[in-house]
Amino acid sequence: MNLVTKSKFFSKKVDKMFGDSKFIFIFAPDLRNIKTFNSNFKSKKIMNAAQVVEDLKKRFPNEPEYIQAVSQVLPTIEEEYNKHPEFEKYNLIERLCIPDRVCEFRITWVDDQGKVQTNMGYRIQHNNAIGPYKGGLRYHKSVNLGILKFLAFEQTFKNSLTTLPMGGAKGGSDFSPRGKSDAEVMRFCQAFMNELYRVIGPDEDVPAGDIGVGGREVGYLFGQYKKLTHQFQGVLTGKGIPFGGSLIRPEATGYGTVYFLTSMLATRNIDIKGKKVLISGAGNVAQYAAEKCLQLGAIPLTMSDSDGYIYDPDGIDRAKLDFIMELKNVERGRIKEYVEEYPTAVYHEGQRPWHEKADIALPCATQNEINGEEAQALVNNGIIAVAEGANMPSLPEAIKIFQDAKLLYSPGKASNAGGVSVSGLEMSQNSERLSWTAEEVDNYLKRIMNDIHENCVKYGTEKDGYINYVKGANVAGFMKVAKAMMAQGIV
Ligand code: NDP
Repeated sequence: MNLVTKSKFFSKKVDKMFGDSKFIFIFAPDLRNIKTFNSNFKSKKIMNAAQVVEDLKKRFPNEPEYIQAVSQVLPTIEEEYNKHPEFEKYNLIERLCIPDRVCEFRITWVDDQGKVQTNMGYRIQHNNAIGPYKGGLRYHKSVNLGILKFLAFEQTFKNSLTTLPMGGAKGGSDFSPRGKSDAEVMRFCQAFMNELYRVIGPDEDVPAGDIGVGGREVGYLFGQYKKLTHQFQGVLTGKGIPFGGSLIRPEATGYGTVYFLTSMLATRNIDIKGKKVLISGAGNVAQYAAEKCLQLGAIPLTMSDSDGYIYDPDGIDRAKLDFIMELKNVERGRIKEYVEEYPTAVYHEGQRPWHEKADIALPCATQNEINGEEAQALVNNGIIAVAEGANMPSLPEAIKIFQDAKLLYSPGKASNAGGVSVSGLEMSQNSERLSWTAEEVDNYLKRIMNDIHENCVKYGTEKDGYINYVKGANVAGFMKVAKAMMAQGIV
């Protein structure tokens, strides 16, 4: 029999006294309370993050993004995890890293030329310890199982951080809406839902949008779910306002990122007003991050898409942002068209904006869009803060450079949690069959972002006072899920 106790000597004595009894009470000199220990407990059994990652690499060798996400999180929670030996006894770490369920299916649809097309579809139901599975759907040609597993893993921690009862999930397809007609997008969404509807439900799994899935796609998906099930339910979030959507949901991720940024700046008594901002992406998150920056008096200088970025030395003002919103959301055009409208701006084909000089960087496009060299350029150019609107936009070496330089740096799971938070609020409104005002939702959003920030400060402040937002977010997100899993037994 082995016991967990700080005193090896005492542990041996207890062994002698109680033999092989299953549960025993011990009176340890260095423990304040009487504790119950299971006799099978191994005193040396603790989690070794590097080993867990190695094991996962062997089991899932073709999923580099998933391994990257896990290997970024585990070292930051290792210390806290090992303060709770009961976690290891229940093998919590493997159960938390490996998704509960992976649904993979073929989608068959017909294009405008009458040709039959196939795509792959996925739904990763990662963890539902604290609420129904919840996470977006991504339509992009790069989508594969490993990318969605990384996103579902991250989503579990993020949703836990929001303080709302939501588990973690993600899904999507390697279908690209780019260049497709409305009718093709509709037929694809319907075909996707023909499979997805079997595994989702308002208390089971509630998908939302992500890259390539905006209001239009969510509308088509919802319509097909209704057709198949005869149910009008809050089964998707990001819906249109007339059929159960929440005000502020389109704005929530971008706004939330900037609210989080202002909390970070406040820890150093810095005002966002007048600060120059580099933004990547020109989609949902980027647009509303830019809008909130403008409202707070900051000056966005760049925006981008997967072909390149525009730099406007005069700043992207309200009228220019309206032009981008129309270009991207209605005309579905490319960001380079901006310089035809505003010739003082410059377009950089095939490049990212991180070499430009500014005060703040908001990566809002996609994963792995800031490498080490670009992070160093940002630091050399005197950047103060990096707040991630996208999921995992910074490569591990970039994060190290930011943290070594003691920048204000927040990982996406903390700073972009506003989107899923308002999705959670949309679920609440659907359950009540009520709609809240924009002001009410925005106030909730501000409060949630502030609470997330405080949790990061609580768990992430280091001895020298530097706030390690990565550690703070991971530990805070992890502890809630871990406690719920422990309470629910081995399931
Ligand atoms: P959108 O599809 O609305 O916009 C994505 C933007 O990023 C587009 O400008 C797109 O350009 C660009 N982009 C996509 N892939 C690449 C790439 N490989 N390289 C360079 N640029 C690229 O998506 P969202 O704004 O919704 O999402 C952006 C990020 O934010 C993602 O990481 C997403 O997971 C994350 N996020 C989104 C939330 C939401 O509520 N929407 C919530 C939380 C996180 P192009 O048009 O050329 O493809």
